[in-house]
Amino acid sequence: MNKLESEIHYAPLPMPAAGELQQVAKGVYWLRMPLPFALDHINLWLVEDALDGREGLTAIDTGISNDDTKALWQQIAQSYFKGRPLLRVVSTHMHPDHVGLAHWLCQGMPDPEGQAQFEWRPPLAMTLGEYATARLWSSRALAEETRQAPDAQATSMAEHFRRHGMTNQDDYAKAQKRDGFYGSMVPSLPLNYQRLLPHKPLTIGGMTWDIIIGHGHSPEHAALFCKDLNLLVSGDMVLPRISTNMSVWATEPDADPLGLYLDSLRRFEHLPEDCLILPSHGKPFGGERLETSGGLHTRLRQLHEHHDDRLSEALAFCQTPRTAAQVLPVLFPRALDFHQFTFAMGETLAHLNRLWHAQCVRRDCIEGVFYFKAA
Ligand SMILES: [Zn+2]
Repeated sequence: MNKLESEIHYAPLPMPAAGELQQVAKGVYWLRMPLPFALDHINLWLVEDALDGREGLTAIDTGISNDDTKALWQQIAQSYFKGRPLLRVVSTHMHPDHVGLAHWLCQGMPDPEGQAQFEWRPPLAMTLGEYATARLWSSRALAEETRQAPDAQATSMAEHFRRHGMTNQDDYAKAQKRDGFYGSMVPSLPLNYQRLLPHKPLTIGGMTWDIIIGHGHSPEHAALFCKDLNLLVSGDMVLPRISTNMSVWATEPDADPLGLYLDSLRRFEHLPEDCLILPSHGKPFGGERLETSGGLHTRLRQLHEHHDDRLSEALAFCQTPRTAAQVLPVLFPRALDFHQFTFAMGETLAHLNRLWHAQCVRRDCIEGVFYFKAA
C-alpha cells in the first residue's frame, strides 16, 4: 500500500469471489468480473428494482464480451436472481469493460444456441455521448471504411504516436494492429437506448439516483449518487488506488482531457465525505460516518495533487523541446507492456496538451513531429 492509499479508508466489506455477490447496501450488490489486462478486474453493481410492474434487478455496467464473463453472469443469474429478470442495464460509459456485454444482457442472456434465459429484454441506459461513440467504434464495417479512407492516416494510432515521437518500428507495427481493437471487445450494441441526462435522476429500487456527468476519461461519463443510501457509484471517474486514465487519441489530437477531467471532479465536491464510494476498479471506500478524511474529498484532493505534480514534472522536463515519447518515461518510469504503453502515451499527451492549452508550453512541428517547450 503506498502513502496515498494509506490515507484512504476502505469499507470493511469482504471481496466477492467470481460468480458471487456481496451486499454493500440495502438492495445493492457488488460483483467482480475478470479482465485480460494488467488491470485484471472490474466491479459491477446489481440493484433490486421494479420496472413496468415487474420485479427484478438493474445492472450497472456489464464486463467485457467474452465467454468467461457470460458464464459468470449465467452463474449469478442462477444463484441469485430467483427467477427474476434483469430489468435494465445502466452503463456508466463506453469502455469495453463497462458496456461490452450490454448487447448480450439486453437480449436476455442467450445461450450459445441463441435461446434467451429471460423473455424480458432489458433496455440500455447511457448518456448520448457514450452511446453514440460506442455505436460508432463498435461498427466493424465503419472501422474498415475508415481504414480505407483517403485520410485514414489521420485516425491511425500508429501515425498519431509517430507524430508524437514514437520511433520504434516494432511499436509502430503493433499500433497499426490496434485499429479495430474496440470492436473486438464490443462486437455490437443494442440498437436503441434510454438517454441519461444530468438533470433527470433515475429511479432505481424506488430511490432517486442523481446522474453526475464527467468528461476527460470518456466523452460523457455518468456517475450515480443515491442520497437516501449515501452511495456513489463513481464508475472510472473516482478510483481509490490508481488514477483514472485520460488519453489524447488520434480522433481528437488537440483535445484537453486532463483539463476536462479536473473540472469534472468539481461536480463531486458537494457530495458528503462519508458517502460510500463504489468504484469500477479497486475496493469500495469512504462510508462509516467519516467526517474529515479517508473518503471522497480526501481522494479528490489527492487526484488534484497527483496531476499537479505530474504537470510540474512534465513542464520541468520541457525546458528543452521534447516529444511526448521523450516525456513518457518521466511520468511512467516503470516497465510497460504494449497495452499499457498506448495508455501511457495517450496520458502523457493529455498532460502536455493541458500545459499547451494553459499556454505553459509552446508546440512546434518539426519534420512532422511535435515538440513541446516551456513557454
Ligand atoms: Zn473507463
